Amino acid sequence: MLGNLGKNLTKTMKKLAGMSIVDEEVVKEVIKEIQRALIQSDVNIKLVFKLSKSIEERALKEEPPKGITPKEHIITIVYEEMVKLLGEKAHEVEIDQKPYKILFLGLQGSGKTTTIGKLTRYLQKKGFHPAIVCTDTWRPAAFEQLKQLTQEMNVPLYGDPENKDALDLAKKGLKQFKKHDIVIFDTAGRHKDEKDLLQEMEEISSVVDPTEAILVIDGTIGQQAKDQARAFSQATPVGSIIVTKLDGSAKGGGALSAVSEIGAPIKFIGTGERVDDFEIFDPERFISRLLGMGDIKTLMEKAEEVAEEEKVAETMDAMLSGKFTLKDMYTQFEMMGKMGPMQQVMNMMPGVGKLPKNASQITEEKIGKYKIIMSSMTHYEMEHPEVIKQSRIKRIARGSGMRNEDIKELLKYYNVTKKAMKGFGRRKMSGPMGQLMR
Ligand code: GDP
Repeated sequence: MLGNLGKNLTKTMKKLAGMSIVDEEVVKEVIKEIQRALIQSDVNIKLVFKLSKSIEERALKEEPPKGITPKEHIITIVYEEMVKLLGEKAHEVEIDQKPYKILFLGLQGSGKTTTIGKLTRYLQKKGFHPAIVCTDTWRPAAFEQLKQLTQEMNVPLYGDPENKDALDLAKKGLKQFKKHDIVIFDTAGRHKDEKDLLQEMEEISSVVDPTEAILVIDGTIGQQAKDQARAFSQATPVGSIIVTKLDGSAKGGGALSAVSEIGAPIKFIGTGERVDDFEIFDPERFISRLLGMGDIKTLMEKAEEVAEEEKVAETMDAMLSGKFTLKDMYTQFEMMGKMGPMQQVMNMMPGVGKLPKNASQITEEKIGKYKIIMSSMTHYEMEHPEVIKQSRIKRIARGSGMRNEDIKELLKYYNVTKKAMKGFGRRKMSGPMGQLMR
């Protein structure tokens, strides 16, 4: 569904899940990719910027809750803000009175007739017995199309191709089916001009007095969906919306976000031509799928494993070449968490002596503290620790909630370790560990 939008967003989220450090630069890049994907899907540009702004603000300001990594936090923010854009909750059709009168509105070709069939099947499955009234006097084939549809589904239909009075048809249909639990009214989707069509909708609406007016909108029209929804809702209060043709439509994101601005909830979406290609629109589930969150957790674990292996190899290389940055030290800390103290790791290397005292003796508490400090640094600072001077130290201290001395202590530890690493690199490594690291 929404082929490309989903593909692009999932790709972005996967990339994010695979990153080791998430800083401002990464957040901005992720937002840029989301913007690109949404604009390609014809989502209104103002809406896209509003969304990006709220994602950026939250991602940069909010602290991740306990037990959530910064990366998971950003994924959650993207998810939550996108859900908000679509109206948050799923809405059911609640049949709470008899007869429940549903008035279907929508332009010709929007998929109204097909959708009536889909909703009828959906309600039948719930144990209801809908009946259908055809008030479309404009399109000659409308009655025939409904006749075929209702015969297949064993649903009573009222209509009269000879009668050209839509209001009269509505009245008679209502009378005939007043004992049914649900009566669905199909209406015309075209007239001489739009004004006449809307005028007729207004009149039918006053005759039928619908419990719920449902507007069907073609999802392939993108942002224009908003104008259409506005026009119809001026003729009669639109209670809910169904967006059709979201299967593979490039502009679906545009239609969905546009109509959600109208205020009436999107209750269902059409995802194909068959009667069962129909689902309740649940913004949470929908966005989850669009972002590929269904398995984002496993994905994150997997990405982390792969990234971990790559990082270990990279760090080893960096350590031996003397290009040892704070990023490598961060990885080293993570490795230590998995493989035990660095001294132990070093001891496995033939020909490698002991690490200097300050470099080898580091408590878990310190590691934790250093990691917090490092997550307040920028990408650039992590790669070029030499630029961290007084003003940056102050900023990092403020950002991480530590004292200036703590930052200085970390930098000292880094320098000692770097020096020690350089020493190892010059030594010729032999034996299994040496091969392992080449
Ligand atoms: P109406 O003029 O509004 O009553 O539209 P129809 O119900 O006749 O549908 C117009 C065309 O859109 C038909 O070819 C339908 O098969 C197609 N259609 C309707 N809903 C969907 C949908 O969700 N997905 C796809 N791919 N096609 C749809």
